[in-house]
Amino acid sequence: ENYSKIMGIPVPKITMDYSVELLNNVIQQNKPELFHVVTLNPEITMSCQHDKQLRSIIDEAGLLTADGIGIVMVSRLKGNPLPERVTGCDLLIKLLETGNQNHWSFYLLGADEATSKKTSEVINRTYQNVSILGRHHGFFNELEEAKIVEDISSLRPDILVVALGAPYAERWIHKNKNKLNAKIAIGVGGSLDIIAG
Ligand code: UDP
Repeated sequence: ENYSKIMGIPVPKITMDYSVELLNNVIQQNKPELFHVVTLNPEITMSCQHDKQLRSIIDEAGLLTADGIGIVMVSRLKGNPLPERVTGCDLLIKLLETGNQNHWSFYLLGADEATSKKTSEVINRTYQNVSILGRHHGFFNELEEAKIVEDISSLRPDILVVALGAPYAERWIHKNKNKLNAKIAIGVGGSLDIIAG
């Protein structure tokens, strides 16, 4: 079987290396549709139990990875193990490393202003071939949101990093999917806080 079912959600049995390779291909293929990456954590899994709309967002995602250690442990207990954990933060760091080799561009959305600024400084310093085309903190109203979406759309980043918390990030990406003009969008939870240190 290619999947392990966790609380009704079929989670593909994929590794970090496979995930990065897949996303590398997505960037090279340069298709017009946005490719949504969901890193599945307990909050999303639980919300999916009663929220059909969120569940359909997860089902439609281009790539679903097991972020939570609990998800991997449950898959082992059920005798249909997922190969490893692929967390949003680890995946983001791998994408920055691969992006540094391939000159990818990013837009960072989310976290508070100080964290957003610090994270982009750390990335600029550490991954000099990566370009941060733009960034915005994650506390905005509807009017500001429209401007952020326009900004992202005109910048056309390879990867849009959405650190708004789960499952808000997943809903946000889905809602704006056709307006963002990014190749990939990924919800990463508190990863910017981790990178900012
Ligand atoms: N956040 C945000 N806007 C909000 C709520 C949260 O930008 O309206 C940010 C918050 O600053 C933090 C991240 O989203 O950087 C949430 O991290 P958390 O670890 O709570 O998310 P999870 O890993 O549970 O998805």
